[in-house]
Amino acid sequence: MSKTSSHALRAAVMSTLLPLAACSGADDATTSDPEPTSAPEAAQTGTSTIAHGRGDRRTESSGRTWQAEADDLLDFYDPAYRALYTESARAAWLSSTDVSPEHTGGRTAADQSFASFTGSVEVIRRARLLMEHEDELDPLTVRQLRAMLVQAAQAPQTNPDLARRRVAAEAAQSARLDGFQFCLERRPDQSCARPVITNDLDRILGESTNLDERQRAWEASKEVGTTLRDGLIELRDLRNGVAREMGYHDYFELMVSNYGMTVDEMMELLERLVDEVRPLYTQLHCWARHRYAERYHAPQVPSNLPAHWIGNRWGQSWPGLVEGVDMDALAASREPQWLVEQAERFYVSMGFAELPDTFWTASDLYPVPAGQTRSKNAHASAWHVDLESDVRSLMSVESNWEWFTTTHHELGHIYYYMSYSQPEVPFLLREGANRSYHEGMGDLIALAASQEPYLREIEVLPEGQEVDETAWLLDSALTGPITFLPWSAGVMSHFERDLYAGELPPDQLNARWWEHVARFQGMGPPSVRPTDGCDACTKTHINDDPAGYYDYALANVLVYQLHDHICREILHQDPHACNYYGHREVGDFLRAIMSPGASRDWREVLREHTGRDLTAEPMLEYYRPLLAHLEEQNRGRGCEAPPAAATAAPPAEATPTE
Ligand SMILES: [Zn+2]
Repeated sequence: MSKTSSHALRAAVMSTLLPLAACSGADDATTSDPEPTSAPEAAQTGTSTIAHGRGDRRTESSGRTWQAEADDLLDFYDPAYRALYTESARAAWLSSTDVSPEHTGGRTAADQSFASFTGSVEVIRRARLLMEHEDELDPLTVRQLRAMLVQAAQAPQTNPDLARRRVAAEAAQSARLDGFQFCLERRPDQSCARPVITNDLDRILGESTNLDERQRAWEASKEVGTTLRDGLIELRDLRNGVAREMGYHDYFELMVSNYGMTVDEMMELLERLVDEVRPLYTQLHCWARHRYAERYHAPQVPSNLPAHWIGNRWGQSWPGLVEGVDMDALAASREPQWLVEQAERFYVSMGFAELPDTFWTASDLYPVPAGQTRSKNAHASAWHVDLESDVRSLMSVESNWEWFTTTHHELGHIYYYMSYSQPEVPFLLREGANRSYHEGMGDLIALAASQEPYLREIEVLPEGQEVDETAWLLDSALTGPITFLPWSAGVMSHFERDLYAGELPPDQLNARWWEHVARFQGMGPPSVRPTDGCDACTKTHINDDPAGYYDYALANVLVYQLHDHICREILHQDPHACNYYGHREVGDFLRAIMSPGASRDWREVLREHTGRDLTAEPMLEYYRPLLAHLEEQNRGRGCEAPPAAATAAPPAEATPTE
């Protein structure tokens, strides 16, 4: 059940080029490590393509309302946006399914046209002016203008120099990250005696029981941070620059605006979600500390988890502590095509339409057949090529468990696209209700597809084969949402808020990072961290997918809230053994949430359909059987208090080591 999810939905929405959703492996809703695919570079060349001479008529002189002015802009913008978007998506599809310099060139050209339109001086000037009169505009208009400004921020032609410098700085930072030589052992002159790649380090952290070796591997994984620190500061300043160009205080605020929230509101929400799962996290943390201490023959059990004890470089997931079920064996006898068709049957059984014929003819679903020389992108993704009925998926489906859940997940995106492709939803708002909804919907269906009664009904889980529910739940908590939430909603989001909104000075990056790690994750580094380093920079997203990591946290929370509602209120079933298959009322519920796209406030939609604000309580409830089990296991260990480090001073002193 271990996997890496790569959710390019974000990369796409944020790069503004293509809301395609790319996910490599979403085998359940406990999505943890979403690595971004690199977004195509937005071109900075070109001039405004708006040349319709509307001039500077203002309401004061023309007597027209601001709403009428906004309608004019949108009437012009929306169809042009769709046309350029479609061209860009077609070119991107070609370059992803048949990688060649020619196709990459075609994609770059299409992206340039798109970016010079969405970032044009005229679009920005008018959208900003209209937003100054937000109170006089209807909510749907405001949502479109906001989306327009976020799009424009990727390549604002109002300050082409800034935009150009940003693209260059992003490319340079990626090159530093990709080109770094990790090293497990250095000679006295600092040259490398044992060069390694990150897979080697991950293997040591995944398997070794030698704490010295683990510490060397962990420290080696952080060395790249020193190389990246100044680049991150430069990028921070440039990103804040483009955000200010759009009228926002900083880049974090610009990104949060997708949710229609202020930064303070977002941070309050994230704090609350972390607090909600804290009782379970505390027990899990305590149990894991003891388990690890036993494994490593540590003389005593530390009150906070040493970062190098964990099988993940950032401690965002704690794999390898529980013996799992061999799920791959379950899907091994099915043809790859059956997996895709079964995923479609799942949706059709809930009352969704069959996939359009063009899905089957235009998609690229299986590994490149032997004999063909073309190469294709390895990440699973779902595409909305023309923002209407041209929906496609790019996968490489094989007969294993990961693809069983991934096919269900990817079709979640496809059915989301199909649900909001209707005249009431402007092209610009044919997206998830916020950035986390699309991913959440795919993950929800992946969770539903992993439920035992469904697996029994479609005979993937054979009669007589039993599942150890406690072990399954424990592994899913350790590698899924319970360990992921303090990391994503806590550490990552708070650090990036401090970085962008707080303009954190370079020599405080490590100290602040470890304060958050201690407070939220209850972890500490094995050695004092250098002030000229940047341990945060070792996480790809910090460099190339900035200021939106809370999307993953919110998607996780949403999954359990929706699942809980569907199982308890609609199906009247136990959320641990809940079968959506064949239930049209579940389809009706999901369609009602998906069909407005981003044209309505996500909080209103959630409240209307689940009767509650976003809350992690259903997630906690889902794992409640585990809480009792862990309390039993932890008896006498003094686990009742939160991780000691949550209240203690940060373990890292900000002094140089070398
Ligand atoms: Zn996805």
